[in-house]
Amino acid sequence: AKADGRGTYRFFETGMDARAQARRLLEMDLRAALQRDEFEAYYQPIRDVASGRVVAFEALLRWNHPQRGLIAPIDFIPLAEETGLILQLGEFVLRSACTDAATWPDDVDLAVNLSPVQFKNPNLIASVTAALAVSGLDARRLELEITESVLLQNSEATLTTLHELRAMGVRISLDDFGTGYSSLSYLRSFPFDKIKIDRSFVSELATREDSMAIIRAVTGLGRSLGIVTTAEGVENDVQLELLRREGCTQAQGYLFSKPRPASDVAMMLNRPRLL
Ligand code: C2E
Ligand code: CA
Ligand code: CA
Ligand code: CA
Repeated sequence: AKADGRGTYRFFETGMDARAQARRLLEMDLRAALQRDEFEAYYQPIRDVASGRVVAFEALLRWNHPQRGLIAPIDFIPLAEETGLILQLGEFVLRSACTDAATWPDDVDLAVNLSPVQFKNPNLIASVTAALAVSGLDARRLELEITESVLLQNSEATLTTLHELRAMGVRISLDDFGTGYSSLSYLRSFPFDKIKIDRSFVSELATREDSMAIIRAVTGLGRSLGIVTTAEGVENDVQLELLRREGCTQAQGYLFSKPRPASDVAMMLNRPRLL
């Protein structure tokens, strides 16, 4: 029994150790990957619902791991945020995406996701300014996507940053709308150009009356406040038709295309649908 007890204790200890070690390994791997240039921005088209035109692409980060293949952000962004590496990663995405977007037709905009850690960083404005200058991208073609969690923190500083970005000509989108603390007062207190309606509402659009009601309310709100509404995760024509009926401005999702490498942008611009 004594041996058993000790064995169990050791096992538990080793378990904790293994987890911490896996984290350290991933962190080292992340640092090395930054050096080795293993990160790449993929792009997903956003279409105007009424005309069907591609109005923007959202940059979505991918990690081309030499052994593990293509890794999605969910598997490394949280650790990158905890360790602060997200600042370098975010810098990379911003620069490479602005550089790519500068080669697109100039009526096609670029949307880039900002982590709350990046948003709080005092270097944000300088970093955005530099990315625009180096790439030559017009600030009016850049949209930065932030989530509601950013708005919970120090609202004075948040408001100042948002106003500075908008003074530069950059637009601000409220991402994943409806998933967080979603207070309607945010829409009044902070200057947003766009609301992105979370995928969870869109996926239940045809089957749940309440999802339909929420979409109707948000698009109506957008219309009366002069804020563009974008539906995320549009996967079929039924959803698209319902969104059109509600007057949602833009749609994004697998129905049009999955996120793809920069080399596929021309193809995504030319073909209405792509799997
Ligand atoms: P997000 O900003 O909400 O991005 C949309 C996510 O939904 C993307 O996942 C996209 O591939 C996926 N998606 C798009 N259309 C559909 C659809 O029709 N059906 C389904 N099921 N999914 C769809 P992805 O690329 O895995 O990114 C996940 C999250 O990681 C993003 O959510 C964003 O929060 C974060 N992320 C991605 N790239 C960056 C980045 O460069 N910086 C930061 N800070 N976060 C990023
Ligand atoms: Ca986003
Ligand atoms: Ca989103
Ligand atoms: Ca999301």
